Amino acid sequence: MPITHHLARLRTFKAIDRMEDELHQCRDVLHPVEDSPERFEIVRERLKSGTGGAPVRMVPLMISTLKGIHESLQSLETNPAAPKTHAEPGVIEEIETLARQSGISSIGFAKVDPRWVFREKAILYPHAIVFAMEMDKQRIDTAPSAACMKTVMETYRDQGRVANKIAARLRQLGYSAHAGHPLMGLALYPPLAQAAGLGWMGLNGIIITPEHGPRVRLAAVFTSIENLPYSTGNEHAWIEAYCDSCRVCIHKCPPQALYGEPVRHENGQLTYVDNKRCFPYFNEYYGCSVCIKVCPFNHKPYEKLKALRRHWES
Ligand code: SF4
Ligand code: SF4
Repeated sequence: MPITHHLARLRTFKAIDRMEDELHQCRDVLHPVEDSPERFEIVRERLKSGTGGAPVRMVPLMISTLKGIHESLQSLETNPAAPKTHAEPGVIEEIETLARQSGISSIGFAKVDPRWVFREKAILYPHAIVFAMEMDKQRIDTAPSAACMKTVMETYRDQGRVANKIAARLRQLGYSAHAGHPLMGLALYPPLAQAAGLGWMGLNGIIITPEHGPRVRLAAVFTSIENLPYSTGNEHAWIEAYCDSCRVCIHKCPPQALYGEPVRHENGQLTYVDNKRCFPYFNEYYGCSVCIKVCPFNHKPYEKLKALRRHWES
């Protein structure tokens, strides 16, 4: 039996399942709504299949990432019994500084729409601190490859550590917090990051940030702080028109898994990727990431592309 099959049976996985279920059973948490999306169990599916070459070499990375997911749920027990709900002066600035010193490239704040919470999951609070972390450009540019997959996994691990660190600091300050891990998260992060003003969702279904284009991973910390400085607008909405005239990711996706015209659901949610087409290729070829690599925002500065867009319009 491949080692990845053993990994899929790890006790850590069972503990994560149990804690996710317990959170879902709690009353005073943010639950999904009827038409919330189902989480695609990418980690389990990948480990079960055991193909694609890289997973065995990634085992140590995978184990430390799983530990981070476990910690994000287990640490909920350490939340204060009567948490503070109002950020005192300096708290938000301290958290932003901590995040940036820990390698976070951008940070924003948004209220979570229950439609973004995955079915049969839950999060502790609707108040979210959302952050993006850059992935190594040189290695992403080799996608699909083991080197690319390694940088993705390292970013999951490192960003998970930052989410846990921020949650721990908030608890020390008297607030309650739930670290939303970048891998196996309990809510959809791209629309949350868009609501937080971190960027705009591209036709590849990934948030495109001004700092690093789509070459980022996302995570969040859900907190009892009710007066977060929520984003009120989004200056990156022009990216939608840029995508319309670009469509490079759609043409370059090896199994043609991107819809081109995102599927609009009755509740207004958009789906960009056909997982049934993406996953087999993703699984066979080191987590793919071609749709990140080929995006012009991965190669050219945001302001340059914005100027180009203006030129097209004039
Ligand atoms: S990860 Fe690969 S297969 Fe999946 S949508 Fe992106 S380019 Fe297509
Ligand atoms: S490759 Fe082009 S269409 Fe796809 S997300 Fe990037 S800018 Fe948008």
